[in-house]
Amino acid sequence: MIPQKLTRQFVVEPGSKVDLKKFPTDWTKTKDAEALGKNLIKERANQILEESRKRLDAAQDLLYASDTHSVLLVFQAMDAAGKDGTIRHVMSGVNPQGCQVYSFKKPSAEEWDHNFLWRYMKALPERGRIGIFNRSYYEDVLVVKVHPEWLGPGQPANPDDKFWEQRYEDINNFEKHLARNGTLVLKFFLHLSKDEQRKRFLDRLNDPNKHWKFSDADLAEREHWKDYQRAFEDALSATSTKRAPWHVIPADRKFIARALVADIIVSAIEDLKLEYPKVSPEKLAAIEAARAKLEKKSNNKEQPADQEETTA
Ligand code: ATP
Ligand code: MG
Repeated sequence: MIPQKLTRQFVVEPGSKVDLKKFPTDWTKTKDAEALGKNLIKERANQILEESRKRLDAAQDLLYASDTHSVLLVFQAMDAAGKDGTIRHVMSGVNPQGCQVYSFKKPSAEEWDHNFLWRYMKALPERGRIGIFNRSYYEDVLVVKVHPEWLGPGQPANPDDKFWEQRYEDINNFEKHLARNGTLVLKFFLHLSKDEQRKRFLDRLNDPNKHWKFSDADLAEREHWKDYQRAFEDALSATSTKRAPWHVIPADRKFIARALVADIIVSAIEDLKLEYPKVSPEKLAAIEAARAKLEKKSNNKEQPADQEETTA
């Protein structure tokens, strides 16, 4: 478990003005990391990931049994920041029936014909489940803020500040509605440096097995790096709230990002202090009766289970 005083530094303080340059992309180069000892960090991070996976499996079981809450995890990042890998590693120990991942791409014509939150609303997790948004309604204040020409039909050609303010407000109200209705919302921005993105793109170009991951569009978007960082800063500043906080996760080292995300998720679910449903006295009596019936041997027509196998 990572001490909360350490994870708290990655939370965007509600109401604060975000300057992404003040958040590390490579945590191993920070003072906290130096204090831990460089060689130990990777080992410790992998241990934390392993522990968190087990805790998450137990927490998900309780989430399902208690049936009072759902969890929505939002992942946003620049290309190659490791959204897919983080989701895969963090969720790998969880019962697949208890979680669902949605990846959002460019909206379809039908989606464009609705309000911008419509398609996300339809994909929200049911009570008892963990829902993961790999990209989300935040694209509607990020990619389209950098490229207003991609806003889709019926939208202004030159949206002004008020247009974006209203979208942030819609998002905050949407998340307030979710929180009031029992959804725990946690948001992660995987914070990658421009140089680490360059290395990862080069990796894709140099490894034939990774060629399929490379897209010209990724390189084109890299040209807009500064505009994206600004759009992220605006969105994070406007929409980090106590009920739906943003976390800026240092993503240059994958093992750090995975350990942090896993620990933050499981700690937040455990903080809900969920309980298994209490069984009524009638149900307890029925359980006792069923147990007595199954344990009863011989003088009954039924044979005990261990004999059934050998005589069959
Ligand atoms: P990967 O590249 O790892 O497969 P990805 O999430 O980058 O995953 P892509 O198909 O490469 O998937 O990209 C999806 C694209 O859809 C992104 O460029 C994203 O900005 C765009 N997109 C998502 N939501 C919206 C939206 N609401 N409006 C416009 N574009 C969007
Ligand atoms: Mg992509």
